Amino acid sequence: MLNEYAVSQRDEFLSLAQQLVSYDTPGQDKIRCDALADLMATQLAPLGEVTRVSNPHGGDHLCLRIPAVGSAASQAPVLLLCHYDTVWPVGTAAIRPLRVTGETAFGAGLYDMKASIALGMLALRGIGELGFGLPRPVTWLITSDEEIGSPTSRELIEHEARSAAHVLVLEPPIEQGSLLKTARKGVGVYNLAVTGRAAHAGVEPEKGINALIELAHQILAVQALADRGQGTTVNVGTARGGSASNVVPAEATMEIDVRVWSGAEAERLEAGFHALSPVLPGAELLLTGGLNRPPMERTPASIALFKRTQAIGAALGLSLGEGATGGASDGNFTSALGIPTIDGLGAPGQGAHALHEQIQIPGALQRLALLMGLLTQL
Ligand SMILES: [Zn+2]
Repeated sequence: MLNEYAVSQRDEFLSLAQQLVSYDTPGQDKIRCDALADLMATQLAPLGEVTRVSNPHGGDHLCLRIPAVGSAASQAPVLLLCHYDTVWPVGTAAIRPLRVTGETAFGAGLYDMKASIALGMLALRGIGELGFGLPRPVTWLITSDEEIGSPTSRELIEHEARSAAHVLVLEPPIEQGSLLKTARKGVGVYNLAVTGRAAHAGVEPEKGINALIELAHQILAVQALADRGQGTTVNVGTARGGSASNVVPAEATMEIDVRVWSGAEAERLEAGFHALSPVLPGAELLLTGGLNRPPMERTPASIALFKRTQAIGAALGLSLGEGATGGASDGNFTSALGIPTIDGLGAPGQGAHALHEQIQIPGALQRLALLMGLLTQL
């Protein structure tokens, strides 16, 4: 019955997706993001109580609350997570609007993750239309800064997660096999600045302290913190320094991306970075940054939630697999709080952050049925 309902929503799904994709929403462009927030607030209003959380640094965040009735009203809510910012600059929506070819839909920000917002709206509307009761209240956050690490929405997400029974993250699935995500790496960025001392390279080089040579020592020390066996990666992504070939460089910096599967590895890295010390006499190091998203670890609670999701999917004829990814999402925050979290519930497709970004329409409608099943059965 859910499958038939979902298939009947094909036109409605594409129409909603077309509207959402027609807005450019680079997260920090407040005017453009707020324009889409206006539209979504109107679309969500018939479903429940919409709160707009003002964000002076970018687009406003939206929170929809739907109460459950009877004894279900006192149950812990389910938290749904979506973001409406995309990585695409202003002007992309006009160049890559929604385009449907056969069973595939293309569009900027469609796969990651405006199609998911359309699915969420249709699932909640459908549950009402079909007269299903909710076993627990629903809280749905649609935020505007996931792509830049959620600096302004993190607190809101963590606050709502603390009282939630479980969290359903509507990010795209893993491309290969459309797998759900029960583990994601934690991600951090460190910046190491070296201060040496400038001197004339020809006249009195011995009076200088070469910041680039110090940086070279530190690059190798930092790289040695990686642990392939643990899946811990350390990437010195940029290194800069110096001013001219005939000057002993006084300044140098590097930026380092780190990724870990476990909190224990995050702590080991943090300790390793703070233990770095200068090799050249007189050189100074300044370390900033750290982990900005904790790892989503594959906990017994998240495995149990995945098994229930899998069973609800199986009843709909879906065979759902489980996977892990090196990329982070807002699910990392909720999982780190110990709240069972399933990620990757969005529409199957491919090309996140890429020009060939696309979704499979039949797969998206299957995910609509699945979402309705999860919201009414979990
Ligand atoms: Zn995303």
